[in-house]
Amino acid sequence: TVSPDRARRIFDDIEEQFRLDRDALIKITEQFLTDFRLGLSEYNQAMAMIPTFVTGVPNGTETGTFLALDLGGTNLRVCEVQLLGNHQFHLRQQKYKVSEALKTGEASALFDYLADSVDAFLTEIGSESPTMPPTSDPFTSSPSLLDMTQQPSIPLGLTFSFPVEQTALDQGKILTWTKGFSAKNAVGHDVVQLLQDAFNRKHLHVRCVALVNDTVGALLSRAYSAGGCILGSIFGTGTNGAYLERVENIKKLGDSPARQKGGFMVVNTEWGGFNNSRTVLPTTSFDNKLDRESINPRLQAFEKFISGMYLGEITRNVLLSLIDAAPRPLLFNGKSSDDLNRHYGLDTAVMSEIEEAWEVGREDPLSGHSDAPKVNGVRPDWQFMHFTDVDKLPHEDVVRLERIRGIITQRMGISASDVSLTDAAIVRWAVSLVAERAAKLSGCAVAAVLVQTERARIGGGFVPDEERIIIGVDGSLIQHYPNFGTKLRDSIRSLVGAEVEQRVDIGLAKDGSGVGGQFAIYLRLDYR
Ligand code: ADP
Repeated sequence: TVSPDRARRIFDDIEEQFRLDRDALIKITEQFLTDFRLGLSEYNQAMAMIPTFVTGVPNGTETGTFLALDLGGTNLRVCEVQLLGNHQFHLRQQKYKVSEALKTGEASALFDYLADSVDAFLTEIGSESPTMPPTSDPFTSSPSLLDMTQQPSIPLGLTFSFPVEQTALDQGKILTWTKGFSAKNAVGHDVVQLLQDAFNRKHLHVRCVALVNDTVGALLSRAYSAGGCILGSIFGTGTNGAYLERVENIKKLGDSPARQKGGFMVVNTEWGGFNNSRTVLPTTSFDNKLDRESINPRLQAFEKFISGMYLGEITRNVLLSLIDAAPRPLLFNGKSSDDLNRHYGLDTAVMSEIEEAWEVGREDPLSGHSDAPKVNGVRPDWQFMHFTDVDKLPHEDVVRLERIRGIITQRMGISASDVSLTDAAIVRWAVSLVAERAAKLSGCAVAAVLVQTERARIGGGFVPDEERIIIGVDGSLIQHYPNFGTKLRDSIRSLVGAEVEQRVDIGLAKDGSGVGGQFAIYLRLDYR
């Protein structure tokens, strides 16, 4: 067996690499603010800070029925949304799978598929009542309406959740692909035009009139439900945020009409690209391996620490390092599995299951280890004690570890005979290290927006005017990962203080990407 000291050093070293104390979080948040300002002033920055030309948010009284298309990750969705005018909406939608071949082939094939999906939706599911223009234009002071007589086609809002340099509400060049997409002949092209060309090739009477991404969708959707919203953010396959910025701060708009008009505009931060230069994020050897083996090395650096696409992969790298530890393995008797050997073979959803199994039945979900004192939010020794003294654990914890062992055999394909309870404890420890770091870093991004919009100060001691600071979130990670939201809030609190954190109202942006495009249709005539 391995000497406890040596094993301990290895575990301590891993834990040290993932550690993020308050000082580190503050430094990261400060860098966020610097990068925000740089991106607002100049084009082609790591943090793209894209003006979206969305200049208002709904208040929940808007009505109308719209068509939208949502491409952003795992699924493609076509939706018809009926806004009821009372903060609620009806949604009819159909999901279509996007194959690897479409993600990585010719862009025209991908966009043909989008057009075919809209066609199929309209044929199979489409409303008997055709898509209607807005009955009022509550976003702007001008009474501009879509003129349906001039425009016989069905207007469609596109939610396209990849970096796009937007130049108008219905115009934007694809900057780069993310999240495993790499379709050829798309980067540098206008995404609305690519889609419109596909509609035209298929003689579909559909016109793409508004373009948003999922973060803007989340912001607009939460605003519709809650009566206002300052930030829409995504913690799913990828991560990103869009917030309401003063137009005067968006210096790179120069003297454009949009800038002269003043007021507010939604800015899509593309915060997934934060720290591509790798200066402030606490990068571990496991992150380096992930990055080197990814399809976009050195890009989307922040996203790779945070989002659903990557957390499983980071954890897989940690587990493999323990399986392969020499001269003696520290996990699973040194045996791996086909699943664990496969690139991206560990889904983040499995981490969720493990954390769930560990938290089940606990009163305070974060107090599982409250016996150990916290130092700067880090519990120094409990993890290691759990590995070495599994038999001294209370019965309930042993039951939880048994459950985790079952998940490991089922979901990672390791033989039960190679998974000890200590192994189960080690896996849970690794999972929580990776997830906790992700949640804390997510808190930095949110805190940076609070500071940028003058609602908070780093270090705390600031009391904002608003009773409620409304934030919309979407994505499987924030929705399903146990305690991700709680840890994110802890991070916000440690950065900007309890006064602000208590007023932050984080809520699910219901079907944000689905409905986002529709809301944007309201603004269609603004900057043409
Ligand atoms: P998208 O961001 O593509 O719209 P989702 O928000 O559903 O889609 O995010 C999908 C990502 O979330 C995948 O990377 C997947 O691994 C991860 N995921 C799916 N289910 C869970 C879960 N229960 N807990 C944590 N992560 C999950």
